[in-house]
Amino acid sequence: MEKYDVIIIGGGPAGLTSGLYTARARIKTLLLEKGTPGGQASMTELIENYPGFPQGISGLDLMLNFQEQATRFGLEMRYQEVIEIGLDQVLKQVKTEENCYQARAVIISSGAAPRKLGITGEEQFTGRGVSYCATCDGAFFQDQTVAVVGGGDAAVEEAVYLTRFAQTVYLIHRRGALRAARVVQERAFNNPKIRFLWHTAVKEIQGKQKVEKLILENLQDNQISELNVNGVFIYIGVDPNTRFLQQRITLSPEGYIETNNQLETSVPGIFAAGDVRNKELRQVSTAVGDGALAALAVERYLAAETKI
Ligand code: NAP
Repeated sequence: MEKYDVIIIGGGPAGLTSGLYTARARIKTLLLEKGTPGGQASMTELIENYPGFPQGISGLDLMLNFQEQATRFGLEMRYQEVIEIGLDQVLKQVKTEENCYQARAVIISSGAAPRKLGITGEEQFTGRGVSYCATCDGAFFQDQTVAVVGGGDAAVEEAVYLTRFAQTVYLIHRRGALRAARVVQERAFNNPKIRFLWHTAVKEIQGKQKVEKLILENLQDNQISELNVNGVFIYIGVDPNTRFLQQRITLSPEGYIETNNQLETSVPGIFAAGDVRNKELRQVSTAVGDGALAALAVERYLAAETKI
């Protein structure tokens, strides 16, 4: 069984930062990533609030830079999905479909994934008009009509982005006020291609081969209506990627990993960083801070363990 000092689960901004720090500190590190390096950040068209890039930078470019920097210091990355962590022995067991690894410490930076609406038609039409990534799929909707569901930063930013392609973008929100940052809201309100449907819920997604219409409910008067669209982008928040964890690591009621200020979880030797952690603000900048802190905590943990 291959043995590492630390295994990092997830190659988003938090995991890549931890990997940069531990590899640079000459700690034998393996980073396991199940999909695209950069995670959710690499699916963001433009990141405007990560300092150091006055004109903003594409999420994918930023994440490729993170990866290049970490691997330059010797970070080993493998593309495998972690399915279980075994905590019963002194060395932690990290299992993927392909392998089982041993590690003295583990940093969980597995991030979060788009939340589903859970309505009829959503699963059936995913990839056929239902999308969770405007950067990936927006260009398919040139001169067409799309809807975006949600009222947070992601929904409003991506609605503005989609106006590059679509003729009309309906922003469907369940309340009468947006949650997104003011500057983002202003951009949306000033964009003539965006139409707002307030106090509205999507009840069903219908079509034949592809999405054709949404069944909507006005939440104030319960009126049901139909809206013809070619696509629907769902941005109603995220859920933590913690499916591979056993009950022994303490989670918040929403399923995020609880940590202390050193980013230690309830299990010694297991640390958590980034969006998967229970915290106030989920952004690339805070993920980077988490990644650095977790790496330092691991370094101290390994040094103390060696002394025993
Ligand atoms: P979010 O901030 O949690 O917003 C989710 C939105 O979806 C809210 O408006 C919420 O409505 C709505 N919603 C939730 N469940 C729903 C349901 N079942 N049906 C209909 N609507 C529902 O999520 P997010 O926009 O995906 O952002 C996630 C995190 O990433 C946030 O911390 C955000 O600040 C961050 N982020 C930051 C940036 C940036 O800084 N540039 C960009 C993207 C994301 P209510 O308002 O009624 O609760």
